Amino acid sequence: MSNPEREVTPELSTEQSPANSLGITRRSMVVGGVGAATLLVFGGVVKATAGEIAPIRPPGIIDEEHFIATCIRCDRCRTACPTDIVVTCGLEDGIINIRTPRLDFYVGGKSYRRPEGLDQEAVIADPYPNLLAAAGTGFCNFCRLCIDNCPTGALQSFNPETQWIGEAVIDPYLCIAFEKLGGCEKCADYCPFEAITIDENRLPVVDPSKCNGCGVCVNICPSSTYRTYKGSKKRGINIESTGQVRPS
Ligand code: SF4
Ligand code: SF4
Ligand code: SF4
Repeated sequence: MSNPEREVTPELSTEQSPANSLGITRRSMVVGGVGAATLLVFGGVVKATAGEIAPIRPPGIIDEEHFIATCIRCDRCRTACPTDIVVTCGLEDGIINIRTPRLDFYVGGKSYRRPEGLDQEAVIADPYPNLLAAAGTGFCNFCRLCIDNCPTGALQSFNPETQWIGEAVIDPYLCIAFEKLGGCEKCADYCPFEAITIDENRLPVVDPSKCNGCGVCVNICPSSTYRTYKGSKKRGINIESTGQVRPS
C-alpha cells in the first residue's frame, strides 16, 4: 500500500537542473551544441578547402589571396621549370588549391651540382643569377622562368630583398647528425648561401636571416637514403612556408 505521506522526489525541471544552476537553459544547450557542431563542420570544410598545410608556391606571388584569384591553373609555370620543382596541387592540398602550382622539394632525380667555379661571395651578395648553372632537380635556382611564363601575373617579379620562398628547418628526429651526434655536415657544405653552420656539438644550425628556401640542402640531405625504410618523404632538413615573406 502506498503511503500517502510519502515524499515524492520531484522530477528535475529545466529551472532546477544542475545545468541551470550554472545559468544554462536547455535551449541554450541545444543552441550551443548546434553551434559547436557547425564549427566542427565548418573547420572540416575550411581544412578540405584550404588543405592542412599551406602549399609552398613558386617565387613571386604577391599574396595567397591574390594568387588564388589570378592563377588560371594553366600549368605553364610547371612546364617551364628546369629543375622540376614546380608540381601541381592535388586534392590533398585542399579543394581551393587544386591544379595551382606548388614546390615539391622531394622530386628526387638528379642531385644538386654546384656550378663550376662558383664564386661564393658573389652568390651571397647577389644570389639569383648565380645558381643558374647549378645542375640537378628538386631545388629552385631562381631562374624566374616560372614568372616569365605566367600569363596572368599570378607570379610576379620576385624581390629577394623582401621575399623568401620559405625557410629550412632541421628535423632532429630525422637528421643524421642529431642521431649520431655529428657525422653529417652535408647541408652546411652545400648551402650556396652559407645559411647553415655546425655548432660546438657538431649539429647543423640554420640562420633564418640568410636562408631563402632554395631547397638545395633538402635535395642533398642523405637522411632518406641512410634509412632503409621509406615511411615519409621528409628529410633531416625541410622547407617550411613563410608565406614568401622574408623574416625580418
Ligand atoms: S624560378 Fe626557375 S627553378 Fe625556381 S621554381 Fe621558378 S622556374 Fe623553377
Ligand atoms: S603559369 Fe601562372 S596562371 Fe599558369 S598555373 Fe602557373 S601561376 Fe597559375
Ligand atoms: S634552403 Fe637550405 S640550401 Fe637553401 S639557403 Fe636555406 S639552408 Fe641554404
